[in-house]
Amino acid sequence: MPADVVMDKDALRSKYLEERDKRLRSDGNEQYVELTGQFAKYLEDPYVEPAERESLHDDVTFAFIGGGFAGLLAGAKMRQAGIDDIRIIEKGGDFGGTWYWNRYPGAQCDTASFVYMPLLEETGHMPSEKYCKGPEILDHCRRIGEHFDLYEKAVFSTEVTSLDWDESASRWIIKTNRGDEMRAKFIAMGTGPLHRPKLPGIAGIDTFGGHTFHTSRWDYEYTGGNPAGAPLDGLADKRVGIIGTGATSVQCIPHLARAAKELFVFQRTPSSIDVRNNHSIDPEWFDTLEPGWQQRWLVNFTTLQTGGFVDEDLVKDGWTDISKRIRDKLFSADPPEFTPEAMERAYHDSDDEKMTEVRARVDQVVDDEITAEKLKPWYRQLCKRPCFHDEYLLAYNEPGTHLIDTDGKGVERIDDTGIWANGEHYELDCLIYASGFEVGTEYARRSGFETVGRDGLTLSEYWADGMSSLHGIHMHGFPNLFMVQPTHGANLISNIPHNLIERGNTIAAIVKHASDIDADRVEVTPEAEAAWMERLITGGRQFAGNPDCTPGYYNNEGQDAGPGDMVNRLGFPEGPTAYFEYIADWRSSGEFAGLEFRS
Ligand code: NDP
Repeated sequence: MPADVVMDKDALRSKYLEERDKRLRSDGNEQYVELTGQFAKYLEDPYVEPAERESLHDDVTFAFIGGGFAGLLAGAKMRQAGIDDIRIIEKGGDFGGTWYWNRYPGAQCDTASFVYMPLLEETGHMPSEKYCKGPEILDHCRRIGEHFDLYEKAVFSTEVTSLDWDESASRWIIKTNRGDEMRAKFIAMGTGPLHRPKLPGIAGIDTFGGHTFHTSRWDYEYTGGNPAGAPLDGLADKRVGIIGTGATSVQCIPHLARAAKELFVFQRTPSSIDVRNNHSIDPEWFDTLEPGWQQRWLVNFTTLQTGGFVDEDLVKDGWTDISKRIRDKLFSADPPEFTPEAMERAYHDSDDEKMTEVRARVDQVVDDEITAEKLKPWYRQLCKRPCFHDEYLLAYNEPGTHLIDTDGKGVERIDDTGIWANGEHYELDCLIYASGFEVGTEYARRSGFETVGRDGLTLSEYWADGMSSLHGIHMHGFPNLFMVQPTHGANLISNIPHNLIERGNTIAAIVKHASDIDADRVEVTPEAEAAWMERLITGGRQFAGNPDCTPGYYNNEGQDAGPGDMVNRLGFPEGPTAYFEYIADWRSSGEFAGLEFRS
């Protein structure tokens, strides 16, 4: 059947389930290797040598763990609220978080720069492209740091090793691997949902004698080239293997395909590759944007992407296209019907059409029919992170690029000289792991330290049965501590920074209020936290987690992780736009309902 004809729905669903079943494994998330012991070398910072400094034993008003967008936004919002005594503590050698670490060739934002890159108006930056490349985004992180004076007290190449609440002094004690024992009145954490790289637990992984690295620690010394896209000329005489075909791999494979003598892509599950259509930004057009434009674009994107209605789609990309199709379907019915069944039908029909187009595109772009067949994704678009790229599929037309599809089984074995897959041995000089990041492991394991609140209560114990919070920010027993991440709030996955902007606004308002009324302590009441959790649980709106989907980190590798996992995926029942409105009202009312301020 031609790939552009929508298959019979039952046949399509059976095919999806059959492909999922091939990939289900009893070891689920346990299949991955944690980067400790002999694998800890994969975590080393290849970009800077840690600068020497004295250890710190001082006291600041506001400390933030993590110097990515979360910390930068929280810091910027604190400054705007008049809180100046700020310290950001960052493991990397500079600000940037995910953009500091992920410097692989081709790294680029997947959500339009105008909504993805925060504080554009405040810092006066015009993104050069609709989807900016990694170096420009990293520069923007530094720009935010400089603009808001966040470098002043920041410490880099510094890993927090413990975080303890000192009840008598009402201070958080932060110890680090640099011998620091700092104190902070208020602390916030934005350690990132995808921050700790993982390796596939493939037999013999420790035996490979060639060169290896993880994509989040790209070794340009070996490959040549640079993050701006200069050719990877160190690979010209190399046989390179890459394991993984997720969003990272999709972006770096075109560069590897151009540079390597031979490239072997080991695929377990193909990604869905929708069109990118990147273009440069016209400064004249940019000048026509009215002040306050970025907030309007943020609201417009979030509203459309999550099924709402607006007159104009400002961003017009693959994310808003998904929702637009669903809306068009609903309205094209005569008469329009808005029951949950009609909505589900519209979603399924739109998804079937979209994925049929995605599969048809593979046939249009990839010359070799067998390779094209293997690159077709057989699952719903939002089962895995949707990818958008105009060169990835073309890379398979390069004569030196070989797709080694494993039909869902993955790589069999690694040995001294290469990889075994489908019973064949592939000799390699270099093996690159594009195998992703830990998701669903304990928070303390991912962040690298334990948080100990009042009466010795650890965050791991507190969240043993799943995360509990008010607004995704506050936990009872952990005074003056704020979480900066999407969960239990908007849970907007298509544009993470939007969640962080609102978190920053919210905690800045709380810290400012505490300072205005001379309170040295703020804590959520147990009742308010319980009521919030009840609201989320009864609302049942959760990010992904669909067991019908092909396995991946979106659904805990297809395994039922119990009620705790469900709780960890919850967001505001009425959706992201409603949450942003709710939290703006909550903080601007000045009442801060649910929080107790004490001196
Ligand atoms: P992913 O977790 O998405 O991908 C890991 C890959 O490794 C998958 O293809 C997986 O296959 C494969 N894999 C794992 N074990 C094996 C094995 N034993 N044999 C063969 N293959 C194996 O990691 P990424 O780094 O690609 O992306 C992580 C996330 O980072 C994205 O989902 C996205 O949220 C974010 N990201 C965002 C970008 C952006 O916005 N610009 C760019 C890049 C990443 P399988 O699918 O079968 O599990």
